[in-house]
Amino acid sequence: MNKKLISIILPIYNEAESIAVLYDRLNGVIDSLSATYDFEIIMVDDGSADESWKKINQLAQLDCRIRGISFSRNFGHQIAISAGYDYARGDALITMDADLQHPPHLIPALIEEWQKGAAIVYVRNRVVANGLVKKFFSTAYYFILDCIVPIKIPHNVQDFRLIDKKVATIVRQSREQSPYLRGMVAWTGFSSTFIDAAYDKRFTGKSGYSLSKMFKLAFDGMTGFSLFPLKIAAYIGFFVIATGCTMFAYITVDAFCNHVYYPLFKWLVTIIYIFIGVLFILIWFLGEYIGRIYNQLQARPLYVVAEELNSITLSNMMNEKKPLHCHCERV
Ligand code: UDP
Ligand code: MG
Repeated sequence: MNKKLISIILPIYNEAESIAVLYDRLNGVIDSLSATYDFEIIMVDDGSADESWKKINQLAQLDCRIRGISFSRNFGHQIAISAGYDYARGDALITMDADLQHPPHLIPALIEEWQKGAAIVYVRNRVVANGLVKKFFSTAYYFILDCIVPIKIPHNVQDFRLIDKKVATIVRQSREQSPYLRGMVAWTGFSSTFIDAAYDKRFTGKSGYSLSKMFKLAFDGMTGFSLFPLKIAAYIGFFVIATGCTMFAYITVDAFCNHVYYPLFKWLVTIIYIFIGVLFILIWFLGEYIGRIYNQLQARPLYVVAEELNSITLSNMMNEKKPLHCHCERV
């Protein structure tokens, strides 16, 4: 019987000092599973300025399970993982950081959950964030994300997860320039589960995630899965029109019933105020059209098929134009 292939994808940016230790730890885990599974390790060098690529080359010469690609410049963590997904051939794909924050000894547990039937297995960090300020921003971010994003994006999972190849097939179809992969994986809608564990401290060196990169990722998460920001103009517009009309009604009644004199500029201010509300509504309309263009450009699959019955394949429906109904007794 053919063994199942597991791809381990490692995005690498200036991790020359961690790579050998990471490989040793991975090797220990992989060896213990090699009777049941085959492995490939895909190392994606995201334009490192240090000796990471050299280290990857050295390891690849010693171990043919290692496959490497090197970017021409730094494209970012999410793109490095996307490339890993493109190149991986596994039945299950595991992504983890190369700085040893994501403990390799959890790999057997990830595979076990996958074998039990979960198409997506996340490793959730037990420690929300270090420091009060980080904790506050992290909690606030996920609160806003939950409020404005229609799908459920898991909290505190970073990009340490296993996905089944059927999930990878869907994720590969989306060629977004600013991907938020944990959102995209959740978006596919396949069954998922969590393993709770404590992430480790970075083995050596410093984080490749500058504040601006972190902010960009957070923003990509919101804008990639929610058009809510485009609708804010509508709420402001309706509020302004409602209050403007109330003011207009008030001064009209006051002027005509109570014979109070209102100078022309007060009428004009009220009318201009209402028109500002109308402008907000028009901006909302523009936003709705831009949102639709944005959705179309994201070009995500229209739907994700979880199962098929009676081999109703796309080619049956689209090319051969067979009737969509049938008179079979059995399904
Ligand atoms: N990384 C990458 N490209 C980047 C930044 C980071 O491929 O532009 C890799 C990095 O080598 C590590 C993982 O992504 O394997 C997570 O990055 P890092 O540890 O710097 O982020 P943090 O854990 O501090 O959020
Ligand atoms: Mg890290």
